Amino acid sequence: MSTSTNRAHNFNAGPSALPLSVLQKAQSELLDFGGAGMSIMEMSHRGKEYEAVHNQTIVLLRELMAIPEDYDVLFLQGGASLQFAMIPLNFLPAGKKAAYVTTGAWSEKALDEAKKLGETYEAASAKAGKFSSIPALAELQLQPDTAYLHLTSNNTIFGTQWREFPDTGDVPLIADMSSDILSRPVDVSKFSMIYAGAQKNLGPAGVTLVIIKKSFLATANPQLPTMLKYGTFAKENSLYNTPPTFGIYLMGLVLDWVKQQGGLAAITARNEAKAALVYDAIDASNGFYKGHAVPAARSRMNITFTLATEELEKKFLAEAKQAGFVGLAGHRSVGGCRASAYNAVPLESCQALRDLMLKFQKENG
Ligand SMILES: *Cc1c(COP(=O)(O)O)cnc(C)c1O
Repeated sequence: MSTSTNRAHNFNAGPSALPLSVLQKAQSELLDFGGAGMSIMEMSHRGKEYEAVHNQTIVLLRELMAIPEDYDVLFLQGGASLQFAMIPLNFLPAGKKAAYVTTGAWSEKALDEAKKLGETYEAASAKAGKFSSIPALAELQLQPDTAYLHLTSNNTIFGTQWREFPDTGDVPLIADMSSDILSRPVDVSKFSMIYAGAQKNLGPAGVTLVIIKKSFLATANPQLPTMLKYGTFAKENSLYNTPPTFGIYLMGLVLDWVKQQGGLAAITARNEAKAALVYDAIDASNGFYKGHAVPAARSRMNITFTLATEELEKKFLAEAKQAGFVGLAGHRSVGGCRASAYNAVPLESCQALRDLMLKFQKENG
């Protein structure tokens, strides 16, 4: 095993850090997968070697997330962004309305796509507070004839995260979990559909995970092009056409790693400890660092904060870069700083960030 000494402190927002052992395993199998004399990328997606990888990845997802039997696990392409359109195409019929909770840039994009395809409304919005909070469950206003309620479980850009999810009764609940899937246990049975682009917590970009309740899937619009129908993927075990084989293989390795870490309970505890290191540095700074999210809505994945002036932020980011930190600049639309501490970011990187923040404050406070 090579050492990790030349690995950056990678706080990229996405694509983002992958576990070192996963990269090493992929490297060791890159030229010769299981004695086949070729990499997994060079094989038929209809062959038995790839099929085993494909199915094992689904088995691991089912196990780690405790996905009930009456849900399908699908691999799509087009990113979470294509889901913004596929969801209304499949599940927003004329005469019904789709409800969206807008808690950040991604949920607004999801709503904007749905607006092009049918009738929508905002069940609640956190926009007035610059997306620094999550609406209270009691604030959600559901109208009659609602086709589904869509929410974004973690707001990657603003750094807020739902702690608990609404009980929507007969109204199907759909969640974009792109930036916190597999970071904590979730009761899948509360949702009719969960989706996520892979590139934050699951693997490399190129795979989109969809977990969908079979009875909900059965209500989908049948008059759609083949590749825009969830049913196509469900019927063919996501092998109707060529899936992103390498991405699914790598996702399988990441899931193996999650399991080796002790599953979601262990991952959750570590994510909480990691985020606490950085939030504690913010809270103990007497306002030198200002967290964007209100404490009750703080994301454990994306920690957003500002310094007193843009000049000071630039200086902080420059010193961070010098010290081997990557990805700490805030999203181009909001500025400030953002530390994305996804599953694969080691505790040591968060400790190092905390130390850097304390040192920088001492020298500049
Ligand atoms: C990154 C992200 C997206 C966009 O994902 P793509 O795979 O690039 O389309 C959507 N939603 C959330 C919450 C994200 O974090």
